[in-house]
Amino acid sequence: MATTTKPKKVKINKQASFYESVNRNFDKAAALTTIPKGLLEQIKVCNSVYQMSFPVKIGNQYQVIEAYRVQHSHHRLPTKGGIRFSHLVNQDEVMALAALMSYKCAIVDVPFGGAKGGVKVSPRSMTPQQLEKITRRYTTELIRKGFIGPGVDVPAPDYGTSSREMAWIMDTYMTFNHGEIDAPACVTGKPVAQHGIQGRTEATGRGVFYGIREMLSYEDDVKAIGLTPGIEGKTMVIQGLGNVGSYTGMISVKEGGAIIIGVSEIEGTIYNPQGIELEKLLRYRRDKGTILGFPGSKSLSEREDWIAIDCDILVPAALESQIHGNNAHRVKAKVIAEAANGPVTAEAEEILLKKGVVIIPDMYVNAGGVTVSYFEWLKNLSHHRFGRLEKRYRAGTYSGILDQIEEHTGGLIGTRERSTLTKGADEVDLVRSGLEETMITSYRQIRDIWKRKKNVEDLRTAAFVNALNKIANDYVRMGVFP
Ligand code: NAD
Repeated sequence: MATTTKPKKVKINKQASFYESVNRNFDKAAALTTIPKGLLEQIKVCNSVYQMSFPVKIGNQYQVIEAYRVQHSHHRLPTKGGIRFSHLVNQDEVMALAALMSYKCAIVDVPFGGAKGGVKVSPRSMTPQQLEKITRRYTTELIRKGFIGPGVDVPAPDYGTSSREMAWIMDTYMTFNHGEIDAPACVTGKPVAQHGIQGRTEATGRGVFYGIREMLSYEDDVKAIGLTPGIEGKTMVIQGLGNVGSYTGMISVKEGGAIIIGVSEIEGTIYNPQGIELEKLLRYRRDKGTILGFPGSKSLSEREDWIAIDCDILVPAALESQIHGNNAHRVKAKVIAEAANGPVTAEAEEILLKKGVVIIPDMYVNAGGVTVSYFEWLKNLSHHRFGRLEKRYRAGTYSGILDQIEEHTGGLIGTRERSTLTKGADEVDLVRSGLEETMITSYRQIRDIWKRKKNVEDLRTAAFVNALNKIANDYVRMGVFP
């Protein structure tokens, strides 16, 4: 149940900015490594920050648009990171998000440096035509300054953008780079029919599900926070029913057996201890323009009350700094899976760790998007759909093996079993399998550091130590030019 007691005020001097918060976490982990100080400084700073202003004409009015692209780390190229459309975009935020991308790529072994883009617009208040104009002009500015290209910097969707904007970006890039055969690899998260890849839209949410499932599979770790192993039957509350939040929820229910008991959106928060069907809720919101009043649910008095719902897993999937020094004490969940980037501030984290909450950090748990973006980039560079060459061949081989088994045993394999056992992998099967493998392997690396290294007290610090060691290793092996 949501708390009805008045929130206690915790006295905090000044909330750190998002970028300061990321760097505070960086410093905490850096102190536990043996990486030389100068090298740590190089890993920490943003290598290139491009702030731009450009005009667009909307009706008869001129409007100046403020936008950014930040390339945090060039230790591997291309750099990679989404583009955010929001009226809240600012340089500090884009720098923080770009830095997180470097660490994220290192954690999931995606061979890219980190980057991020932001355009200060409110997409909800604009028509698709206006958004297309802005997207194409922004892309043109990136091309002019050499901030986009398959081997340079590769954007993707983020808050407020989707495959639609990515198609516009690709088309603009191709217009200016006529004949460049690898041009579609200049951006990922494109529509499947426009050089995209199956499974990219759901990838971040699916990755969050794999991450939560993996964390909950370690008996000792879950017992320590008073839970039983496994995601089945665990209660979950989600903030933000956009791309990441909705897929996290739907996949956690369908494939993991979790129960969604609370959902928060801009208009407010709903609660139903019996479970909320997300597909129905999404349809309801599309029709009514709100989640409030969804049949069977109760609306909580304040939007922020999602934080205080008594549940097993809290999934902030909207924006950064949602759980902060002044509301962290209200959290009742045992696990927080950071589906959004930076939803828990450094101040909040201190409070939550003291309460024994396990935080599965953003730079690991929401890395499914960049992982499948990497697969899309590979697909674009190899110019063929994964599975196309071998699917039928493998199906034939498996069928031959089953024929032999039948012949030698005298038994018969049923038609349904035969069709399951002989299925060759489609693109989406390969993408899901690659993503699952990535999320499991990466979690094990982080957990190993968490459990093995003295002084590493939480998963975020372990994830940072892992990322910093990998990036530092690159610098040491490559040397520094000249
Ligand atoms: P989105 O625009 O599809 O959805 C965000 C949702 O959050 C929207 O429905 C919005 O109405 C809601 N929201 C905004 N403010 C809110 C508030 N105060 N309370 C409740 N709901 C609120 O964005 P997305 O792509 O799902 O991204 C969400 C987060 O996940 C961001 O932090 C983003 O950086 C991160 N992320 C996204 C991806 C990706 O592949 N899209 C990958 C990694 C991380």
